[in-house]
Amino acid sequence: MVLNGAGTPLEQLELPDPEAGPGQVRLDVHACGVCRTDLHIVDGELAEPKLPLVPGHQIVGTISELGAGVTSFEQGQRVGIPWLGWTCGSCRFCTSGRENLCERARFTGYTIDGGYAERAVADERYCFPIPDGYPDLQAAPLLCAGLIGYRALTLAGDARRLGLYGFGAAAHIICQVARWQGRRVFAFTRAGDDASQQLARTLGAEWVGSSSDRPPEPLDAAIIFAPVGALVPAALAAVDRGGSVVCAGIHMSDIPAFPYELLWEERVLRSVANLTRKDGEEFMSLAPTIPVETEVTVYPLREANEALDHVRSGRAVGAVVLDVTAK
Ligand SMILES: [Zn+2]
Ligand SMILES: [Zn+2]
Repeated sequence: MVLNGAGTPLEQLELPDPEAGPGQVRLDVHACGVCRTDLHIVDGELAEPKLPLVPGHQIVGTISELGAGVTSFEQGQRVGIPWLGWTCGSCRFCTSGRENLCERARFTGYTIDGGYAERAVADERYCFPIPDGYPDLQAAPLLCAGLIGYRALTLAGDARRLGLYGFGAAAHIICQVARWQGRRVFAFTRAGDDASQQLARTLGAEWVGSSSDRPPEPLDAAIIFAPVGALVPAALAAVDRGGSVVCAGIHMSDIPAFPYELLWEERVLRSVANLTRKDGEEFMSLAPTIPVETEVTVYPLREANEALDHVRSGRAVGAVVLDVTAK
């Protein structure tokens, strides 16, 4: 399923099979998660995709071809491909444990063809083994919603009272991790989103409300997963002195002006960008320990446009995933 230009539907095309170059593997794709970032790309809010582009950066598949020099993986092994697809290894960010900020980074399903396809090619350094026991469709959301959510949770520090703004694909995973870590979770959804509120309660949130509500007590940190700038002052108002607000999305509507007192008393406002391989390795080993279980709505690959619309509508409960093996 190919994006030819911003603001146009994806087109179903037959393309030649990609070949694994040196250091690359080719996957037979089984499943690919649909991320809100895919929408930002399709809608032109992330303005520099390669075109034409195969979107999708939460890819699960088995290796069907090894490029020259590949040593980390074997034929037939099941792996996942995340958003970060390539880094230079030599810039000041790469050499200081911050490859997520690499100045020359390339991204799966944005500047590299992704997983809305039957076959995909990836750099072996940016593939993660998928833990046994996870079905393909349930594993796919771990690769971005899970991974980048996990990085956001880590940046929330040791916050015990944690607010999650926007209870979709990422929050429903991170709620499980946070509860397992012994944190208390307060979930904020759009007003009237009863299905997501119910899911939050089931997954252990002790309080659930709409994003304009004040929590019953101050929070130690809040993670904003919804791409809504107005949530920034709302979340700052909900966190206690010294608390953090972490913006986990790659794109957000403008943040409205707010009084300095919302930031005063050493509140911290920060964003999260991309992931490192270390995040991926940590999270993919943690997920089966908890174990994280993902709630997914499944579409066949050819209905990728409908799947994107489902995410756009905000009606999705949990994560949306393309089943590439479905006919
Ligand atoms: Zn994503
Ligand atoms: Zn770099």
